Amino acid sequence: MEKYVIGLDIGTTSAKAVLFRKNGLVVGESESLYPVHHPHPSWAEQDPIIIEKAAIEAIRTVIKNANADKSQVTAIGLSTAMHSLICIDDNDQPLSPSIIWADGRSVDQAKRLRLQTDIYLKTGTPIHPMSPLCKLVWMKENNYLPYENASKFVSIKEFLLLRWFGEAVVDYSVASATGLFNIHSFDWDDEVLLVAGIRREQLSKPVAPTTICQGLSNELANEMGLDINTPFVLGGSDGPLANLGIGAIAPGDVALTVGTSGAIRQMSAKPKTDELQEIFCYAVTDDRWIMGGPTNNGGIVFQWLRDVLGEKEVALALQQGGNSYDLLTKLASDVTPGSNGLLFLPFLNGERAPYWDANARGSLIGLTLSHKKEHIIRAGLEGVVYSLYSVGEALERLAGQPVNLFASGGFARSPLWLQMVADIFGHSVQVPESHQSSAWGAAWFALLAVGEASSLEGIKESIPMKQTYEPNGESHKIYKELYETYRELYMALKPHFTTLANFQRKH
Ligand code: ADP
Repeated sequence: MEKYVIGLDIGTTSAKAVLFRKNGLVVGESESLYPVHHPHPSWAEQDPIIIEKAAIEAIRTVIKNANADKSQVTAIGLSTAMHSLICIDDNDQPLSPSIIWADGRSVDQAKRLRLQTDIYLKTGTPIHPMSPLCKLVWMKENNYLPYENASKFVSIKEFLLLRWFGEAVVDYSVASATGLFNIHSFDWDDEVLLVAGIRREQLSKPVAPTTICQGLSNELANEMGLDINTPFVLGGSDGPLANLGIGAIAPGDVALTVGTSGAIRQMSAKPKTDELQEIFCYAVTDDRWIMGGPTNNGGIVFQWLRDVLGEKEVALALQQGGNSYDLLTKLASDVTPGSNGLLFLPFLNGERAPYWDANARGSLIGLTLSHKKEHIIRAGLEGVVYSLYSVGEALERLAGQPVNLFASGGFARSPLWLQMVADIFGHSVQVPESHQSSAWGAAWFALLAVGEASSLEGIKESIPMKQTYEPNGESHKIYKELYETYRELYMALKPHFTTLANFQRKH
């Protein structure tokens, strides 16, 4: 019987399990959704128990739907969104929700810590409310009870591994994204732990991405539809795994991912950080780091546009069994590049790279009576790509010019959006068959761990590619002209964004 490997990606909105053949071909996919809660406007939390259930369900469903036998599953590789933080007790029960990357409660703490540049230079994690470091300092200063009573602090992946295998381990890239991990020594940084007010015994042991956890209980194995000895391989965070899963491993290979959030990244054989703190640098393996910039405003912008403007399309999709995003994208494709001079600054969720400004806000600029719903949607999609382009400029400063540009993530379901990337970047864009690149990257680490693959680079031969989008010269010219204005608008509006953000916090 043919052997398969599963990549399990715990994203912001869902757990996705993808069943792959060893050559990277997708046999089946399964997705279990879960919500993000906003108990206060800038807070973003999830229920770790619900995520655990979703992860189990995603594994069970993908095996069942593919009619696969459990003996065919060689291993499971794990990927997660970065920066989640859960306070847990001695029995691995959560004392707090999972506080996720989008949480902005620690704005003030981040502002202060940012001045201690050495923390960033050691950890490679830009000082921002996304990072567990800032969240921990917030907890300390606000007498947050779960923090005071916690026996451990973990990310969502560590939480699952603790509950499923009783192992307190964390892979390098998830550890890196905490802001507590020294990317030069591959260990927790004692000075930074002091700032966070926690002890190293409260953290998991940092380990390589090929580390295996094994020994599911009978009950769990049954729930998942797996053999009790199926190896679970640590893998990494979704960012570097997307690079790996898309084959962007060499210098000059740039990966652009847009899921709920977005990022642009390059791997490097050395850790590189800079005083400007615009770019992150996380450890991935013993001899590989990943540099890049994340944006808060990827697919979530399209989600928001759909929720606010797409009532008709959502209803139609429900009625006719289509997809509301596709209906809205079709509408946007009737508008010419540049949306007739309408610009959408997509900072609905504050912004990380390149501005690292939690007070940044979204704006529609250039509206006239002739603009319609479809212009606003198109401007939103274009705004997300302008924003990634601006992060790409910052990355280029540190990592050099892109040679190959690859795209993945939920947005890669849209040919229109991908063409915008080619046109705005003025560069061809390669897109793999499966948009689940993080899951494939995780699965590849799993194959490496169990000896079914022999090198990291070997993945390049096992990435079925779908298409290359070539830039259109005319569209590129238009976007280039508009981008000049886009870039200046953030600077011009910055003080007003701060005023409005303060107003929003107060009222
Ligand atoms: P996550 O960050 O949770 O892993 P995904 O990678 O699944 O998210 O991406 C989700 C995003 O992908 C949505 O917010 C939406 O903007 C975008 N998306 C999903 N389907 C489509 C589609 N058919 N066309 C365009 N964009 C889409």
